[in-house]
Amino acid sequence: MTSKIWVSPPHMTGEELNYIESSITGNWISSTGPYIDKFEDEIKYYLDNKIEVAALNSGTSAIHLALIQLGIKEGDEVICQSFTFSASANPILYLKAKPIFVDSEEETWNMCPILLEEAIEDRIKKGKKPKAIIAVHLYGMPYKVNQIHSIANKYSIPMIEDAAEAFGSSYNKIKCGSFGDFGILSFNGNKIITTSSGGALLCKSKSIKKNSIYLATQAKDDAPHYQHSKIGYNYRMSNILAGIGLAQIKVLDKRVKARREIFKYYYKNLNKELNISFSIENPEMYSNRWMTTILTKSFEQREKIRLALEKNNIESKPLWKPLHLQPVFTSTPKYCNGVSVNLFKKGLCLPSGSNLSKFELEQIVGIIKNSLFL
Ligand SMILES: *Cc1c(COP(=O)(O)O)cnc(C)c1O
Repeated sequence: MTSKIWVSPPHMTGEELNYIESSITGNWISSTGPYIDKFEDEIKYYLDNKIEVAALNSGTSAIHLALIQLGIKEGDEVICQSFTFSASANPILYLKAKPIFVDSEEETWNMCPILLEEAIEDRIKKGKKPKAIIAVHLYGMPYKVNQIHSIANKYSIPMIEDAAEAFGSSYNKIKCGSFGDFGILSFNGNKIITTSSGGALLCKSKSIKKNSIYLATQAKDDAPHYQHSKIGYNYRMSNILAGIGLAQIKVLDKRVKARREIFKYYYKNLNKELNISFSIENPEMYSNRWMTTILTKSFEQREKIRLALEKNNIESKPLWKPLHLQPVFTSTPKYCNGVSVNLFKKGLCLPSGSNLSKFELEQIVGIIKNSLFL
């Protein structure tokens, strides 16, 4: 085998070059230029015009600006899904606030509604009502939106919807990213569409969008000189990257379709024959299947598969290590049921890129089968 197969590499269309070239010839290089507004409009349109969009330099920045605009301050508590990438929770720490981790349920592998309510009740009992909840549509699979949001509503706690991995997914035919008080997207290189690096903050009104852009461009007040009445950030997306995004968003539905086909192939070949299990899409859910993730019978079985793939120059990755197990978060309060620990121990992300060929897929499945029959 010659070139390495990656878990989720970028997938360019070729049209990105035209946007990059015209950004350069028009001298629209940095954070002003026609493509930024256009990309925001395209995202908004894709999300069925349900939400306003501010294009930023990353998904992490988007979470940071969401927390700031929800008024999160030093010492405040913010509930966050434990089974996720560290970027979901890090911005809580940027603000010197305190994360409270909540474990997952077994179907979607996302935030467990029962544990969420337990956590809220317990924090209130301890004297501090959580100020926000960050739930994640992990690997593209929607979390149980109705259950989670009705609990958030019951206690009047604002929701941040981390849809970094779920652009193109939906719940009850409503696109992920449009449910929360804030939503966030990521266009990092490994995501379903990419601008190399980049992200977006999704919000409920034009005035919040305006304020988000103000904060993301160093909080310049309206004056001829540089005047600042707030602390700003350098978080805006550049025009060149927005151009790449314009080429990418055109093929988003195609990318979703390709990833769902890849999932189907793995499922068909690994589920029944090898007794490997997968996260479940309830009827109201539509996952972009950004990543095909498998749950094996044991850590040993998982490692057998991973090492056999590695030997053949094929990347696979253990599922996210739950944040409550991460060394930096050891003293963080947590509400756990063992689900995410089990997933971390026995789970694996398989190559899922939309540019994976049928031949490569067959090869991967063949290696997995062999590794288990040896
Ligand atoms: C990628 C990712 C982020 C962060 O996005 P960046 O654009 O890389 O900053 C946040 N949450 C989840 C779940 C992610 O996968």
